[in-house]
Amino acid sequence: MLQPLLALSQPELTDWVQTQGQPAYRAKQLHQWLYQKGARSLSEISVFPKAWRQQVADYPVGRSQIDYCSTAPDQTRKYLLRLEDGLTVETVGMPTDKRLTVCVSSQVGCPMACDFCATGKGGFTRNLQAYEIVDQVLTVQEDFGQRVSNVVFMGMGEPLLNLEQVVVALRSLNQDVGIGQRSLTVSTVGLPKQIQKLAAHQLQITFAVSLHASNQTLRQQLIPSAAHYTLDQLLADCRDYVQLTKRRVTFEYILLAGLNDLPEHAQELAKHLRGFQTHVNLIPYNPISEVDYQRPSRQRIEQFKQQLERDRIAVSIRYSRGLEADAACGQLRSLRQHPDNGNKPA
Ligand code: SAH
Repeated sequence: MLQPLLALSQPELTDWVQTQGQPAYRAKQLHQWLYQKGARSLSEISVFPKAWRQQVADYPVGRSQIDYCSTAPDQTRKYLLRLEDGLTVETVGMPTDKRLTVCVSSQVGCPMACDFCATGKGGFTRNLQAYEIVDQVLTVQEDFGQRVSNVVFMGMGEPLLNLEQVVVALRSLNQDVGIGQRSLTVSTVGLPKQIQKLAAHQLQITFAVSLHASNQTLRQQLIPSAAHYTLDQLLADCRDYVQLTKRRVTFEYILLAGLNDLPEHAQELAKHLRGFQTHVNLIPYNPISEVDYQRPSRQRIEQFKQQLERDRIAVSIRYSRGLEADAACGQLRSLRQHPDNGNKPA
């Protein structure tokens, strides 16, 4: 199979045009048409000589099709994108004042099976290629007609299980699409050895770890893979990450009513994070239909935050966007694939 052109760097595109018998300067044109003008086929590139354009008209660029898109009242748009092999992934575009943040998927499905996560309930199909990740960002950018300012790897999948392709995508998003490294966030549940591997790339990206629990017993209950990777080991690896990259780690913490949202959990969490260069992102649980966890009240959420602040932990609350759209996060795909489920808010 031919390697699609998207996610290739300028030097790689130079190699490619030269193997096609074209002068090196064509790579610069190609780069601009792929990443700035959003070319979907080489036949569109009018600055190329006609004969060559026809010759390479079917060469794969690596763009997906929008299968479905819904817009929430807060202007968040959720997309189901159809890949070349017919599989679909979810991508979300979230506009705020000046920003446009894209939530990208890194895998089709996910093998981690976290109990509160809709994607985890559907199992795993395959890793995404770097071009399929870059395509998601370009698709949202084009659909909004606005430059993407931030990308978060918080869609379907576990990025550190697809590290090689994720790192290629990060490079391309930074150097080809032009998004600053600090505006690229990789979120992981944490996997043995993988955090060190990411750290070794010495990227200046934002690194987020889904902690979700203040002790091993609770974490294991929510995240099956935590049984083989203790909270202490995970935190030790995160400390090494900070040391090596000089970047702080963000910890994500889903708040589940009555389960991990009590003042004692906040205190326990603070104890683990004391002296750690970190920021905690509290995520009120976004209900999914498969399980009956509850989202805590606003008051409970505020109390949890205040408890952490008393312990001098930097903390913010992240309310999910686009909840009014026709699916909660990660659920669009299963709803669209099983139309019998209806197409209404989960
Ligand atoms: N696999 C990666 C990234 C994908 S999920 C990870 O685990 O970090 C991105 C974030 O959304 C994670 O923090 C995940 O735990 C969270 N999440 C998943 N399901 C959720 C739900 N129902 N409500 C709120 N957050 C959820």
